[in-house]
Amino acid sequence: MAGERKYIYRFGNHALDGDASMSAELGGKGAGLAEMTLLGIPVPPGITISTGVCRFYLEHGAFPTDFEEELGASLAWLEDSVGRKFGDPRNPLLASVRSGAAISMPGMMDTILNVGLTRESIHGLAAQSGSLRFALDSYRRLLQMFGAVVLEVPKKEFDNVLETIRADEAALRDSELSEAGLQSVIEGFHQAIERCAQTSFPQTAVQQLSMAVHAVFKSWRNERAQYYRRLNGIPDDLGTAVTVQAMVFGNVDQRSGTGVGFTRNPSTGENSILGEYLANAQGEDIVAGTRTPMPISELAESMPEIYEELFAITGTLERHFRDVQDFEFTVEKGKLFLLQTRAAKRSALAAVRIAVEMVETGLISSSEAVARISPATINEILAPQLDFSQGVPEVLARGLPASPGAAVGRIALTAVAAAGALHGDPVILVSQETTADDIHGIVAAAGLLTACGGVTSHAAVVARGMGKCCITAAKDIFVDSDIGVLRIGEAVFHEGDWLSLDASSGRIFAGKVPLRAADGENAGLRSILRWAIDQSPLAVRANADTPEDASAARARDARGIGLCRTEHMFFALERLPHVRAMILARNTPERKRSLNELLPMQQQDFEGLFREMSSLPVTIRLLDPPLHEFLPPRKDVDAELLLARSENDAGAIQRAELFLERMQALSETNPMMGHRGCRLSITYPEILEMQVRAILQAALKVAAEGFVPLPEIMVPFVASAEEMQCLRRLIDEAANEVFANHGESIDYSIGTMIELPRAAVCAGAIVEHVSFVSFGTNDLTQMTFGFSRDDAGKYIDAYLNQGILKSDPFATIDRGGVGGLMELAIRQMRARKPEIKIGVCGEHGGDPASIEFFVSIGVDYVSCSPARLPVAQLAMAQTQPLRRIAVPGQEHVSQC
Ligand code: PEP
Ligand code: MG
Repeated sequence: MAGERKYIYRFGNHALDGDASMSAELGGKGAGLAEMTLLGIPVPPGITISTGVCRFYLEHGAFPTDFEEELGASLAWLEDSVGRKFGDPRNPLLASVRSGAAISMPGMMDTILNVGLTRESIHGLAAQSGSLRFALDSYRRLLQMFGAVVLEVPKKEFDNVLETIRADEAALRDSELSEAGLQSVIEGFHQAIERCAQTSFPQTAVQQLSMAVHAVFKSWRNERAQYYRRLNGIPDDLGTAVTVQAMVFGNVDQRSGTGVGFTRNPSTGENSILGEYLANAQGEDIVAGTRTPMPISELAESMPEIYEELFAITGTLERHFRDVQDFEFTVEKGKLFLLQTRAAKRSALAAVRIAVEMVETGLISSSEAVARISPATINEILAPQLDFSQGVPEVLARGLPASPGAAVGRIALTAVAAAGALHGDPVILVSQETTADDIHGIVAAAGLLTACGGVTSHAAVVARGMGKCCITAAKDIFVDSDIGVLRIGEAVFHEGDWLSLDASSGRIFAGKVPLRAADGENAGLRSILRWAIDQSPLAVRANADTPEDASAARARDARGIGLCRTEHMFFALERLPHVRAMILARNTPERKRSLNELLPMQQQDFEGLFREMSSLPVTIRLLDPPLHEFLPPRKDVDAELLLARSENDAGAIQRAELFLERMQALSETNPMMGHRGCRLSITYPEILEMQVRAILQAALKVAAEGFVPLPEIMVPFVASAEEMQCLRRLIDEAANEVFANHGESIDYSIGTMIELPRAAVCAGAIVEHVSFVSFGTNDLTQMTFGFSRDDAGKYIDAYLNQGILKSDPFATIDRGGVGGLMELAIRQMRARKPEIKIGVCGEHGGDPASIEFFVSIGVDYVSCSPARLPVAQLAMAQTQPLRRIAVPGQEHVSQC
């Protein structure tokens, strides 16, 4: 780090040092505080130590050499700003030390309040505040937080001390402890620290401050922060900033308090402030969920002028940042201070409603609205809800609707139990309150239910971020995880019992309430998707095999069909006998007879597809899977043969024996690399001819009805240009025959799939024979990794857990390997045939991260299942308009 580099930024007290654009260096919290200072909003002054210092610290285990000097000057400025000095026994300056990454990671790193207080300065603080009780309470909080975070004393040690003394004093809450009780707590805490940390609590402000900053930097690497980053794709090398901010106290008296809130409801999106306030409390009382706070509206009654000021400030913040804000504030003896503002985490339902309403009022543009909706989260809107069509069961208990949706699952009373149940039935994690350490259980659970907390407590924020349903503050529930019992009112449940949550209303039900699909017709989401489609750089098509699929796809604005798997049309029960007859045929004329039976059925399907997709392209893939898949299971044929023999039925015996013989002939050791794809058309060209006839006759028929069919005939599993050349000739011959018979023709195009590594490497030669290609990324992944599509689930987990793979390559495209082959292929194809149309029709076509990559390498469209269309359409709209078109001569830079 260069010597002249700035390490520390000041905020509050008119400091003009940094702004909202600097979140990479100042973290979200520091940048927000700097911007609030610029806006003239009252914030307690403080300093932000930049993320660069954290990165340096994590790399070298120490601060940069000239850092201490800058810190000293900054702390002196802070002392001047507040008019108190660190360590002054008569009038001590106390500070909060908080982490703040560029990307918000709620609750994942550590915060320490009241830093600077010592045994000696307790009395100074008592004198200044006029309350010994307050000073003692502040000191015991410091011991507790500092002890746990910096000195790594187990939290339980402090809880035990508190519980004992609360019991002695018959106090229900910490706030009811007497001064003498607090003195005993403090002594108990000191002893716990000495016993567990083998050191005494530091008694100078400077030492406390320095140790606290070290600890916050180190917390960047704590297990839960690392896990959270992995889960949310946050890079590990960003580091956290640290803000050291002069304390203002919400726990001085009843005219003091602390609150958190949102400028709009983060669950529903409703445009009214939602917040919580606790009189005579410090911030962690709300966030920890240990006391259930009051709605902010009560502040409007008890301190109307504070409420009005807060309302005005938060309105300014929302307009200034042009987004919903999540704010923290403290009132100290009737004076309001803002401690933090940041873009609020919100449910998908709220995100959509807020974005659309902000467009309507002109605060943001429609493209900003589209950019603000995370594609993966809209499934939350499309997620199931409890189905009350048969009546509403008795409500067991109620809590706060903290994150919408519904969940039905088996009760788990600890995060460990929830995480352990990953592969079984869905689980609902039920606990008194959750902490950041519970993240594994929260990830595993379908829904969360907590006895304490509010709509801004840890469980609520994390659940909302993950799109999981969550009910908090369910006061009638009591969890005893030691004996595995959950009491809800009079009812007793055990781990493993079923429970249903309606988190949109906060209602809890016993047993399994049916689930039904959610709000697929959400009007706000429709607006977002309409804007997304209008802004999309490329088309999103659907994979659809039936007219019904095609109709669903059209209703969701698919820009055509990118893949119709024709073998799925053959699986229908009434078609199977004809398919089997075709397979069992002993010669070509026999096979042709069976194919002629199938032709009208296929043609009818194609007509349906063309009608639904009139004027849009329909890619129909010729038959792909191994033929033996159409035959019955071996054991059924064996049983048939046995029966025929026992009944001495010569005809039946002959039929069954023929079946067995053909099954044996067709059976393959490795069907995925077997007699499939274009190989079928090479060996049985009459199958290809029938399918081409069905496609083009259907197209001619619907064209005569006034529709506009745009057929694209696609050949699967091609490995060489020679295969494609041969099959193209067969397709053209079949087409010419159809046109000659009908006396009229229709446009059609011929393409192929690239789903074999050889096809990707030889794409330049293959492209000479086609006018479009579509990457079959499912098979291309299978063949490139040598991972079986059907069996890889058995070992991919191990690869993911050990970090050998970052993500499942069948879900998100492997950019380095499979993606490298795609780039190679595209570069060759564009060099030979610049106008070639290139698509993707594997499952990756519906995955946001893969879509981003496909756009960047220059494909023309993606195709995915109709259910995934909204996610894909939104992801497509969010891709960078700048496409990296592969050009000849440009070397592939391996990302392996
Ligand atoms: C593919 O391989 O990506 C593909 C679309 O074909 P299928 O999944 O039918 O093998
Ligand atoms: Mg395939």
